[in-house]
Amino acid sequence: MNTIEVYKKLPGKNCGRCPEKTCMAFALSLVKGGTDVENCPYLEAAVAEELRGAKGVDWRESLIASLKEGVRGLDFPLCAGGIGAELIDGSMKISCLGMDFLVSPEGDITTRGYINPWIKILLLHYIRTGGRGEPSGRWVSFSELKAGLVKASSFHRDCEEPLRKLLDIDMAGTGVMLSRLGAEETVSESADHAWRLPALPKIPVLILYWQEDKDLDVMGPSTCRILFDSSADRFLDVESLMFLLEGLANIINHALNR
Ligand code: SF4
Repeated sequence: MNTIEVYKKLPGKNCGRCPEKTCMAFALSLVKGGTDVENCPYLEAAVAEELRGAKGVDWRESLIASLKEGVRGLDFPLCAGGIGAELIDGSMKISCLGMDFLVSPEGDITTRGYINPWIKILLLHYIRTGGRGEPSGRWVSFSELKAGLVKASSFHRDCEEPLRKLLDIDMAGTGVMLSRLGAEETVSESADHAWRLPALPKIPVLILYWQEDKDLDVMGPSTCRILFDSSADRFLDVESLMFLLEGLANIINHALNR
């Protein structure tokens, strides 16, 4: 079922009670697997059941299956060194957003507790990309990464803006969630608040936040910028980096709205 087909089955109230706030955004998120039918309180049981079966599961599961195919046969000891994973009995242990995941040579992923398909896709992409080298220590914007310029406005809309809104609404709660995901608050020369997040072993991310300035002389809206180490595109392509940061905002949003 594609986004439009899902959208047509939604109540169309655009009431804003789901985390996505509009029915179209909800349909998009549902197809991508970023939300659950339970988040719309107006869905009739039969429609919810239909959408539960239709929501991006096939898309995600088939992508996971094809990524697992690509992971099988990789030289794990060689690959682990490049991407900052630890080799344990032939499997790779990878830290991602504050949690450790074990990936077998067959591409099966285990951890303590439930693993959502989003994180499986991310980890398998990370392994398959097989990046090498060390982070440069130089922060750059998304648009400065390889092929980032053409997707920069989507990145701002789908990653930076959702995070900014969360910080505007609940900065303390968002800060707590970031710290649970492994981020450390740091000092920035320009931003009011900054967090350094080791999203993946070789992909540190810097989140900068400027609060709304209410001073009459220098009034200005709040802003959120997400910076990457300049080497990030060696370890994940820009689409996957967007997928990573969009998922991060979704995780925080769901945790704060539970
Ligand atoms: S809660 Fe349901 S009806 Fe309201 S905006 Fe979200 S999807 Fe639409």
